[in-house]
Amino acid sequence: MNAHFKLRPYQQEAVDATLDHFRKSDEAAVIVLPTGAGKSLVIAELARLAKRKILVLTHVKELVEQNHAKYESYGLTGGIFSAGLKRKESHHQVTFASVQSVSANLDQFRDEYSLVIIDECHRVSGDDTSQYQRIIELLRQQNDALKVLGLTATPYRLAMGWIYRYHYRGFVRGEDGKPFQHCIYELPLSYMINRGYLTRPELVNAAVAQYDFSALPRDRFGEYAEQDVNQLLSKHKRVTRSIIEQVVELAAERHGVMIFAATVDHAREVTDYLPERETALITGATDQKDRDSLIQRFKQRKLKYLVNVSVLTTGFDAPHVDFIAILRPTQSVSLYQQIVGRGLRLDEGKQNCLVIDYAGNHVNLHHPEVGEPKPNPDSEPVQVFCPGCGFANIFWGKTDSDGRVIEHFGRRCQGLLEPSEGGESAEPKGRPQQCDYRFRFKECPHCGAENDIAARNCHECQKAIIDPDDQLRDALKLKDAMVIRCAGISLTVDGSKLRITYHGEDGEELNELFDLGKVGQRAVFNRIFGRRFANGQAPKAFSSADEVFELQALLPAPDFVIARKQKHYWQVQERVFDYRGRHRKAY
Ligand SMILES: [Zn+2]
Ligand SMILES: [Zn+2]
Repeated sequence: MNAHFKLRPYQQEAVDATLDHFRKSDEAAVIVLPTGAGKSLVIAELARLAKRKILVLTHVKELVEQNHAKYESYGLTGGIFSAGLKRKESHHQVTFASVQSVSANLDQFRDEYSLVIIDECHRVSGDDTSQYQRIIELLRQQNDALKVLGLTATPYRLAMGWIYRYHYRGFVRGEDGKPFQHCIYELPLSYMINRGYLTRPELVNAAVAQYDFSALPRDRFGEYAEQDVNQLLSKHKRVTRSIIEQVVELAAERHGVMIFAATVDHAREVTDYLPERETALITGATDQKDRDSLIQRFKQRKLKYLVNVSVLTTGFDAPHVDFIAILRPTQSVSLYQQIVGRGLRLDEGKQNCLVIDYAGNHVNLHHPEVGEPKPNPDSEPVQVFCPGCGFANIFWGKTDSDGRVIEHFGRRCQGLLEPSEGGESAEPKGRPQQCDYRFRFKECPHCGAENDIAARNCHECQKAIIDPDDQLRDALKLKDAMVIRCAGISLTVDGSKLRITYHGEDGEELNELFDLGKVGQRAVFNRIFGRRFANGQAPKAFSSADEVFELQALLPAPDFVIARKQKHYWQVQERVFDYRGRHRKAY
């Protein structure tokens, strides 16, 4: 055995966490390690420890090769099954394979496997018909106790959100139907940098010019359409030119420069401004052979600049890279980290890696991933404590100059509660339950239970919850109903009575009176307004009108108010909070 392959402490922890988890459970698990943390070594060690057949899957041949080489450096022999590498061996105890090749040759995988390891496992979708799922399904038919372990630096996909459900530090991410059940180990990028396992990024804010993508429309994943981006960039050729001039100037003292362009057209333009003999362009359409040889020449430092369009984010390893220029927009902290991660590998003589963001992404490298598309450009991850269980949630939001959270977009607490003894539960026995505290909610009109704002049926009584859009549409049809887009509320106090005035954006007003001296009215007021106080961060049971008046700055305002005409006045019937439907809200 090769003695110098001693695992770093965190790699050993990741291995231990895996053994520990699979001793107790057959449920699929994920290990999250930043780019450059040495995932291939963790895989090699797990493969070395396995007594029965295991399969290591990944989506690109470069990673198949890397992982296999790392394993063999232990003095062991493993097989490779990859058409791209022209090897189809499946008889070894450990096989390193590309998912496409296995998928196309399922009949060669009829043996009993004990473990499947998936590298870059954020590419696994929850869809049962995907290549990964079909392979897992087949291997499960041979061994129903098959273990599945994924490794990734980015446990998150824009289209799916988190790829796992339960986190070992006691919180839950997302709903059922994730390809992995558990995250069993995770290390942040900052840990790796602070311990000297990765090069320190030198984040420079000296950009001569910047693109502003913020005005472009975004899809539901928060990304821009290529066509829109091209159109915007074609109007800013001078910006691109001066950006590249700066890149070249700063690159004088650098050895390897990677430029991440927004689109293929953009990448071509960027390439045109760079010194021809020192520059390579790689896009999704680049022929595999050309791509391999360009990367080879870049690694040998015969080329200095490597321009690419989101193709070199994973499975690419050139430690000498010491300058990353980001010219593409992204809303994803993970993707941003992946891009920057290309320049953080340790290399001899490398002091740091220059990182310049020319696309105004405003991503903080050390920010945690929120797991949702950024709702607007000036949102940042904020920590919101649950009033129910105390868990510190991370949501998109805004803080004031003192760092207090003034707004957040969280819906439900992500804390995990230990199972209550003898409690009825739909989950398998002994599994912790997600805290049911909701920061935003719709109240079920039938049973009063609090539901997610997008819920169609009550989770408690299963009855249909009225869709706010239907509610608004129905009200708009009625002659004796009034609907206002609420731009804000104001209060007046008269003894124990509190008058709320809802202001429509066109100056309309609706009024509602609560007598907080009366138990019943106080309860209604607290259910509607007290419960939502301070974005649901600090629900309150108010006891008097004066108390409400004093704290009115943090009282919630609905997005729409519906009233019906009575004989002499308009009576408020519905207040629609946290509206997400198709009608426009007040400015
Ligand atoms: Zn909670
Ligand atoms: Zn209900």
